[in-house]
Parts: sequence; C-alpha cells; structure tokens
Amino acid sequence: MAPVLQCPDCGTKHPLGQVGDAVAFPCRGCGRVLKVPERVQRAAQPVGVAAAGTPAPPPEVGATRALPVVERNPRPAPAPAASPAPAAPRFAPVPVWMRFICWIFAVPLAFLFVFTAARAFGMFSRDELTDLFLATDTSRFWPVVRLLPFVAVVCASMVQGGVLALSRARAKRRGAAAGGRRS
Ligand SMILES: [Zn+2]
Repeated sequence: MAPVLQCPDCGTKHPLGQVGDAVAFPCRGCGRVLKVPERVQRAAQPVGVAAAGTPAPPPEVGATRALPVVERNPRPAPAPAASPAPAAPRFAPVPVWMRFICWIFAVPLAFLFVFTAARAFGMFSRDELTDLFLATDTSRFWPVVRLLPFVAVVCASMVQGGVLALSRARAKRRGAAAGGRRS
C-alpha cells in the first residue's frame, strides 16, 4: 500500500513512488512546492536512515497530506462519488405548441371514445344518431348534449395525462443530457 501526497491547494495527488526521497517537490497541478511530511519520509526510507534522520519539524497548517491508496494506478483518481448529483426535476415544462397538439388529438379521440362507449352501452341508439341529421326539432340534440360532459372529462383526462407524460419524458431526457455533459 503506497501512500499518495495530495496538494492542499489544488488536490492533485502525487504517488510517493514518483516523488522519490525528495523532501520537497513542485506540485504537478499548480506548481506550489510541497513538503513531503516527515511521517511519510520515515515510512518511505529504510529504518536505519530514518533513525539517523533529522528530527521531525512541527506539523504545519496546510501541509501536504499523505493519503493511503489501494493500488498504484496512473489513471486519475475517480471523482468523489459520495456527493450525489443534484436530483433532476421529475417534471420539465411542456411548451405551448406541444400542449396544443395534445388538444388536437384529444378532442376527436374523446368524442370517438365516448360515443363508441355510449353506443356499446345503449345510451346512444342508431335512431338518435339519424335524428341528429334528419329531424328538425331541437330535442334531437339532447342525446348528444347529455354525453358532452363525459366527452369533456375524457378529453381533459387525455390532455392532462399527455402533458404529464410529456413533462416526465422531457425531464428524463434533460437529466440524461445533463448527465452526458457532466461525464
Ligand atoms: Zn497543487
């Protein structure tokens, strides 16, 4: 297990093997001269040399820290995964034109759905349908009018559901795009 020296300014890590037995070295990240802590020097040196070495200077504030590493790896250390990415919003705004398209699809579909269901349940007979076009009295509209609230409910539900689905899809896509930019 080889220790790593981390720059207190920029965080660049320097494997001790590359530092050698120098007491100080310039940081590869920011150029600041970093002192190798006495503790690490002693650990890196043979025991006999450490015993004959100079007395340890008092620890300095902001001195280079020695971090243990599991493997000696030239790849850059992975970014700290402990800090979770800010949670992406679950819903993104849906533009007006998308909502408009939702309505364009929802209105005829709602009529189709309600009148098909009404026909299936016997709430809207064939006679009532033909009367709508052939009869002349205003009461012929009543079978249609009484179905309009159902059409309204179905239509509103379709639009609401469609906008909600769009909003979630856009939020997910936005989150994926943001994740792509982060990495
Ligand atoms: Zn540095």
